[in-house]
Amino acid sequence: MEMGKVKVEEKVPLSSMTSFRTGGPARYFAAPSDREEAQEVIAASEKSHEPLLVLGNGTNILISDEGFSGVVLSTQNLNKITVEGEKIVCGAGTRLQTVIKTALEHSLAGMEFLAGVPGSAGGAVILNAGLKEEWISRVLEEVEVLGLADNQPQKIHKQDIDFKYRGSGLEKVLILSITLNLKKGDKKEIQAKIAENMKKRMESQPLEYPSAGSVFKNPPGMFAGQMIEKCGLKGYGIGGARVSEKHANFIVNAGGAKAEDIYRLIGFVREKVKKVYNVELETEIRIIGKFG
Ligand SMILES: Cc1cc2nc3c(=O)[nH]c(=O)nc-3n(C[C@H](O)[C@H](O)[C@H](O)COP(=O)(O)OP(=O)(O)OC[C@H]3O[C@@H](n4cnc5c(N)ncnc54)[C@H](O)[C@@H]3O)c2cc1C
Repeated sequence: MEMGKVKVEEKVPLSSMTSFRTGGPARYFAAPSDREEAQEVIAASEKSHEPLLVLGNGTNILISDEGFSGVVLSTQNLNKITVEGEKIVCGAGTRLQTVIKTALEHSLAGMEFLAGVPGSAGGAVILNAGLKEEWISRVLEEVEVLGLADNQPQKIHKQDIDFKYRGSGLEKVLILSITLNLKKGDKKEIQAKIAENMKKRMESQPLEYPSAGSVFKNPPGMFAGQMIEKCGLKGYGIGGARVSEKHANFIVNAGGAKAEDIYRLIGFVREKVKKVYNVELETEIRIIGKFG
């Protein structure tokens, strides 16, 4: 496949690029470092009729053991970050933790609630990452995207994005960069909030195992983790995949798990919860490729 300046690799293993540490190879893999290169990748996949998958930091995604039969566009090299007054503009592939560190260095407050969330800036906007009451949409000003259908750049203001719990409604776009609107604050206070949030995570999440964070969205007025726990599923496993003992909404790769094990365990949990609560749990993580 021809992609002009951008290096394109074939049969690239994706397991090391996902936090579950599972999944097969990408048929084609490219990591553009600016808008023009990203446009080349999109044009090449369009021309050769190959499906395209945008991959951020791979922390909210389950890719099948067969891998992805198309072009994986990784945002890892879209990682420029600049600070302009109280605004931070960063490439979509910039890790949230780098954004938080940069904000702290400039005494900018507003991002502390995301301390410890391992995704990229672009992935965080797509999924409206956050906690119970605080989401990235709160501090976002705008995003710059490329339409995957027309390959044209466009800026979208946050008011025109349909943000909701774990969703943005942004489909068929590649986010190139995001602009955050923060507030000058007290460096020590910002640092203390970051440390407090990190501590809470260490106490409540099974960070010793590979995972993709919470697997299921909380149904309205309920907590998926509590429901799974009450079904007696903590510690239940299929192959190398296990429902975490520490946090029942986490499925962990407890050693040698296949993507298929995780997929089957997701199905098993959903079935059990449906039987007990008559509620269909919806996955928060994105499931890509062929299973079963
Ligand atoms: C230990 C752990 C704890 C976590 N805690 C939290 C938490 O507290 N709150 C929370 O909200 N999430 C949490 N997560 C989930 C995850 O970190 C976030 O959802 C994160 O925002 C996902 O970003 P990513 O770059 O890893 O996305 P990926 O997993 O790479 O991709 C997810 C989806 O977004 C799309 N995507 C990614 N980047 C772009 C882009 N630039 N343009 C267009 N589409 C794109 C992908 O195609 C895919 O559909 C946790 C995960 C782990 C492993």
